[in-house]
Amino acid sequence: SAAFASDLPLTMALRKKIAVMTSGGDSPGMNAVVRAVVRMSIHMGCDAFCIYEGYEGLVQGGDFIRQMGWDDVRGFLSEGGTLIGTARCMAFYERPGRLTAAKNMVLHGIDALIICGGDGSLTGADKFRAEWPSLLEELVASRELTPEQVAPYKHLNIVGLVGSIDNDLSGTDATIGCYSALSRICEMVDYIEATASSHSRAFVIEVMGRHCGWLALLAGVATGADFVFFPERPRDQDWREDMKVVVQRHRKMGKRKTIVIVAEGARDKDGNKITPTEIKDLLADKSEGGLCLDTRITTLGHVQRGGTAVAYDRILGTLQGVEAVKAVLEATPETETCFIAINENKIVRKPLMQAVKETKEVAVAVDAKDFDKAMGLRDTEFSDQYKSYLTTTNVLVEDHKLPEKSRMKIGFINVGAPAGGMNAAVRAAVAYCLSRGHEPLAIHNGFAGFARHHGDSPLGAVRPFDWLEVDSWASKGGSEIGTNRELPSESGMELIANLIEQYEFDALFIVGGFEAFHAVSQLRKARSEYPSLCIPLCLLPATISNNVPGTEYSLGSDTCLNELVNYCDKIKQSASATRRRVFVIETQGGRSGYVATLGGLSVGASAVYIPEEGISLEMLNADVKYLKKVFNQDKGQSRAGRLILVNEKASNVYDAKLIASIIREEAHDRFESRESIPGHVQQGGVPSPMDRCRAVRLAIKCIQHLEDFGRNAHNRVKKDPNSTTVIGIQGSEVVFTPIEQLEEKETDWPNRRPRVAHWLDMREVVDILGGRPAYPKPE
Ligand code: ATP
Repeated sequence: SAAFASDLPLTMALRKKIAVMTSGGDSPGMNAVVRAVVRMSIHMGCDAFCIYEGYEGLVQGGDFIRQMGWDDVRGFLSEGGTLIGTARCMAFYERPGRLTAAKNMVLHGIDALIICGGDGSLTGADKFRAEWPSLLEELVASRELTPEQVAPYKHLNIVGLVGSIDNDLSGTDATIGCYSALSRICEMVDYIEATASSHSRAFVIEVMGRHCGWLALLAGVATGADFVFFPERPRDQDWREDMKVVVQRHRKMGKRKTIVIVAEGARDKDGNKITPTEIKDLLADKSEGGLCLDTRITTLGHVQRGGTAVAYDRILGTLQGVEAVKAVLEATPETETCFIAINENKIVRKPLMQAVKETKEVAVAVDAKDFDKAMGLRDTEFSDQYKSYLTTTNVLVEDHKLPEKSRMKIGFINVGAPAGGMNAAVRAAVAYCLSRGHEPLAIHNGFAGFARHHGDSPLGAVRPFDWLEVDSWASKGGSEIGTNRELPSESGMELIANLIEQYEFDALFIVGGFEAFHAVSQLRKARSEYPSLCIPLCLLPATISNNVPGTEYSLGSDTCLNELVNYCDKIKQSASATRRRVFVIETQGGRSGYVATLGGLSVGASAVYIPEEGISLEMLNADVKYLKKVFNQDKGQSRAGRLILVNEKASNVYDAKLIASIIREEAHDRFESRESIPGHVQQGGVPSPMDRCRAVRLAIKCIQHLEDFGRNAHNRVKKDPNSTTVIGIQGSEVVFTPIEQLEEKETDWPNRRPRVAHWLDMREVVDILGGRPAYPKPE
């Protein structure tokens, strides 16, 4: 990806007119796409256009196709829906409609079209592209256009972006908008749970998803629902019996609430629709042997689309919008039409038609009751999450247990500051352990708790888990088993080694941030001295700073970004009374600029300052000059303040307060500046659904990894570097990396972060889209 600036300036011959449109159902994040495409196009020396009201605007032409200036997309990031409108367009289904659309494109001189919409919109786009030459021929033949007029537009350059709340397109792990919709759903379920619990009620919650169960399934995983119905995988047996057994089991265990989530398109194995009313009737059945639960139905409906986009959708929309412009500029007549996808953490271009074809095949497979095929066409995350959901709802079922000799005693420990998703991770791992017959034990309050409260201590630092209690942790923030920053070396390595021996742990599952990484590294290094430490250790990174080597994502970082985005949105709005204000916001993140950068990307910061670069007087100077310029040009039309994000450790001297003061002094009353410090708010209250769902998925993988070593693995552990690993998302894969490899080559120990920041390229995107001029890099 690297330096965009070096591509500049384009020669006039390459200069393009790039249009962006949103189509189909609106989804949160579409505005981020429009902003990114418009600004990136202008940055690359092209002309940017918006086509209002989807294909309808393309067919109508005229004022529906408008050239956009840099400032026309200001404030787009924090708005919900799509500001350039969307529509369903009947005319575009027919060739005459597409013919008019082609004519309008040529008349406006548009040579590339970036479309953000669902599979229908993308199908239409591909049809349009395939027909393009014949449309132009027809326009010339009927003398609506001259051969000279059409000559420069021989090849229609189209790039697709997937905007949809359903997450129903094959080939991409997430569509722009799906995590916002999931967040809304989980928020609602969290509210409903409180009342369900109070009255010991059952709730049937219907969510969107006619052909795709992603929203239902992930909402089920994130909230720890009792039962989930979705189209791709109906129960093999009678769903009535299945549900009854599960609900009965959970009630018997002592659960006071029952939550069933059902996708609109849910079916049984024979293809019959399953309705919320049928489910309710079964839950409320008062006849003998019936469940007899006080049951309510809630249909979430359009609230699922509503609201502003979560941080992830803003980031995804922005990065994919930037990538789409690059794809447009790099395309040749031979290039296959692509869409922009994301696989795990990697943004990639993929053939459009194949994805659309596979998406349609899912619906066909469901209709044909070929459910294995339907599941097979979904991405790996989907099937992983399906397994997770089964694990966490079938904890007490005997069928999956390992033989006695393979059952392990696994210690669970949280290290470092709390991060969103820690509890969800522990819950899922406990569920998996119980379902396999392992013995999970909670080590309370980190290594400090382990070292000081063992034995007969009333605090009883090492305790078995009570599943009824743990089961309610899915959406809880903080760390229920307690977390502590202390390293084993500080607690006393010998003591820790003895305790591990005393408790006969076969493995340790550690959840935490950089301290946790450090702790595991210390345990590994101490193995030669203390043989009891020769047990497999697995770390699941959880820290808002996202600074653990071996992964591009850590639990809690998404929750943190969402908190920061909410905070910044509010601050930005508060400035609308005065309009001419710059807020300098201090973000957490230790010596990693991840939060500041990704936060900046989500809110459209004018500048970000990060420890990886430091802050120099030249930078501040250049930024003050830039701010003066924008405020000079701004004739009061913009409605919100401007934001600068500065990481807490970006500089020893220039902190948020000082930077705000410098700006204020230099502004000479032409605008104002204030600092603002969200502080611990960034650790978040309720963890985001993404953090919860990823926690579940990754935690189960961690225990499976430990399980692979089995009991009495001392000799293998000594030799196999994979016995001490960090699980992580790297590019498009989930991987386990040996700590040994990370601690030597990939860790910047003094700065407590990975040597290479995978997100550094995004810093440049923030600058480009914020219009910040190039500045002298600090030495
Ligand atoms: P959602 O995720 O909301 O379903 P979508 O993009 O799939 O989004 P659709 O209503 O299917 O929504 O499509 C939006 C528009 O795209 C249609 O109104 C129509 O103008 C165009 N379109 C869809 N399918 C085709 C097609 N097969 N041929 C031509 N145009 C199409």
